[in-house]
Amino acid sequence: MAKIFCIANQKGGVGKTTTTVNLSAGLAKIGQRVLMIDLDPQGNATMGSGVDKRTLTHTVYDVLLGDVSMADACVQADACGYAVLGANRELAGAEVELVSVTNREQRLKDAIATVDSQYDFVLIDCPPSLNMLTLNGLCAAHGVVVPMQCEYFALEGLSDLVNTIKQVHANLNPELSLIGLLRVMFDPRITLQQQVSEQIKAHFGDKVFEAVIPRNVRLAEAPSYGLPGVIFDPAAKGSMAFVAFAEEMVLRMERLQ
Ligand code: ADP
Ligand code: MG
Repeated sequence: MAKIFCIANQKGGVGKTTTTVNLSAGLAKIGQRVLMIDLDPQGNATMGSGVDKRTLTHTVYDVLLGDVSMADACVQADACGYAVLGANRELAGAEVELVSVTNREQRLKDAIATVDSQYDFVLIDCPPSLNMLTLNGLCAAHGVVVPMQCEYFALEGLSDLVNTIKQVHANLNPELSLIGLLRVMFDPRITLQQQVSEQIKAHFGDKVFEAVIPRNVRLAEAPSYGLPGVIFDPAAKGSMAFVAFAEEMVLRMERLQ
């Protein structure tokens, strides 16, 4: 049985996609079988895994709204070591089209169930909003990983996400829980970031991952080469932090079982 996680935060530019592709690559690197699902019409996680969103035959859109099977839609990102269910702009229409479909918030869950046994982890890169696509992700997942920057307003937006997780847990998916908060783009030289980091730990306790992802330009450069930083420059500080995070995730999962 695969462990299924959403990487979510309704803010844009907080590091969701960077976390999704690098955690995927980090998990693959330590021997886990990984499927990465891009649920953002921007398709950044797809491109950042070296899969060209413009030439994909099938995407997550076809799985959600057409009758294309997961087996037909997933492609192997060879250089990255994990499988990809890609997305492109077509997915933006799904938001509206899903409204008239039966079981609309469970479409992704049903699709993942058909390939569940082939993977140890399924990671879902969510769009920067709490919409029907994100809801499909939350209904399919066991847990949510929230990347966050240690900035002044970081905690403010978090309550909306935590409330949404609670609601989905209560009404649609009793298996869903907040797995943890990942501090990303961290710069220890900035006092404010240290202070906010302490606040987050005081507030969320052991829900805060021990791994901390530093601000590291190699992680930002990697997508233009169609690679996660973990593959593009394994020795970079950011890449090593993501591998450490992957190891922490595996340990946490073992403890949960
Ligand atoms: P989101 O998916 O939440 O919109 P991204 O993962 O696309 O966020 O990150 C936003 C921007 O920040 C991207 O340009 C990305 O390359 C950059 N970035 C993300 N994490 C880091 C990091 N740890 N160090 C440096 N740049 C980063
Ligand atoms: Mg993104």
